[in-house]
Amino acid sequence: MLRNIPKVDKVLEWPEVRSFLEEYPRPVVISAVRDTLDLVRAELLRGEAAPESLEKKTVAGRIRSALARTNTPGLRRVINGTGVILHTNLGRAPLSESLRDTMLDAAFGYSTLEFDLETGARGSRAVHVEKLLCSLTGAEAAVVVNNNAAAVLLALSALARGKEVIVSRGELVEIGGSFRIPEVMEQSGAILREVGATNRTHPRDYRSAVNTETALLLKVHTSNFAVVGFTSDVSTAVLVTIGRESSVPVMVDAGSGSLVNLSAHGLPGETTVQEYLAAGADLVTFSGDKLLGGPQAGILVGKRSCLESMKKHPLLRALRVDKVTLATLEGTLHLYRDERQALLRIPSLRMLTVTGDELASRTKSAVRRMRRALPTTVTLKTLPGFSQVGGGTFPLLEIPTSLISISVAGLSPQQLEQKLRTGPLPIIGRISHGIFLLDLRTVTDKDIPEIISAIVSIAS
Ligand SMILES: *Cc1c(COP(=O)(O)O)cnc(C)c1O
Repeated sequence: MLRNIPKVDKVLEWPEVRSFLEEYPRPVVISAVRDTLDLVRAELLRGEAAPESLEKKTVAGRIRSALARTNTPGLRRVINGTGVILHTNLGRAPLSESLRDTMLDAAFGYSTLEFDLETGARGSRAVHVEKLLCSLTGAEAAVVVNNNAAAVLLALSALARGKEVIVSRGELVEIGGSFRIPEVMEQSGAILREVGATNRTHPRDYRSAVNTETALLLKVHTSNFAVVGFTSDVSTAVLVTIGRESSVPVMVDAGSGSLVNLSAHGLPGETTVQEYLAAGADLVTFSGDKLLGGPQAGILVGKRSCLESMKKHPLLRALRVDKVTLATLEGTLHLYRDERQALLRIPSLRMLTVTGDELASRTKSAVRRMRRALPTTVTLKTLPGFSQVGGGTFPLLEIPTSLISISVAGLSPQQLEQKLRTGPLPIIGRISHGIFLLDLRTVTDKDIPEIISAIVSIAS
């Protein structure tokens, strides 16, 4: 059978395959033919090939599918049924729908990116968001870069190159995707001076480490892990007191960086960016696409004296953000001028603070809609469970949620999961205790008809 695998040139002469050349460029067709024949060969070698696998019709059909797949973008929309709100692999925070026009206008037209309408002269791309950031957080100045990793790199490079930065051993975080505080420190040219122990660091540890080479006291949010038990750390306020004694500035890498106090919504109290600054921190850095719910960005806010050197730093040019990011970040920050608007309109905040009752009733009505539309071979149940915040935020928090379990006669949960994940509109759920589950916390009402049609086509 291996010997009967046709040659690429021969396949290209088949009338069916020749017709593909009217629709696709020749090199694309050739590569689809080659890939398909490679697959057939591999299946034959594994003994997995069906008897008709070498028939012209079968091979041509597979080439057609391979070509169709080349038209599907690699980066595309998915439905997040995992309940993980800031799912790093699924793009973290979804933007507010209210920013659709803002985003399109910035992307598809010209804009005031670096143009001052008053004077008609060159402006700065930073001013638009800087003012908003200052008024929302109480900072004197602000800088925006590509992500928080870039913000930390820029800050350390500008403020501590060749000098020492003191960090607690309990805060030497690895965020994942190779962002580790000690390694970023090394890249920036700053020298790490670890103090304290993993579980306990005291004011005296910082005090005795400060010397003439100290450039910064750095506090890092232990975003994605928690040390519990016999622990103590030094608050920002106390760190500021220690810093002032020797005129050393204090920087906080706040990680997620919330602008609203979420404890009013039944979530653990997180220090807000405003509170870090009010405690006297000279510089605070945080992400744009974690709890803030905006685009991927790194935000630096703080004292003018600290940020001045960053605004002039050559790295800033390499780390700067594009106009679409600036437009959507400005739009997101705009919503924060009214906290209720922010909670209502920013999807990640809304998903985080939606009440259990609302979620239960949404789940119930979704199940009703699905039952009406789905064949009887599909069994649906609602059951209680837990969602996670994700994005290295609130690692221990499990928020009670409502889940829909789905089973389809004749399919294992693994087969159902795989079919939904690889369909035309991928739907990502999870399997727990042998049951396929969707968590409606991260699913919008608009997604329901699409979920229904995916299940309909799988079940039939
Ligand atoms: C997430 C995080 C970062 C990295 O932020 P990105 O925006 O993903 O680059 C850095 N420090 C802390 C403490 C974080 O939680």
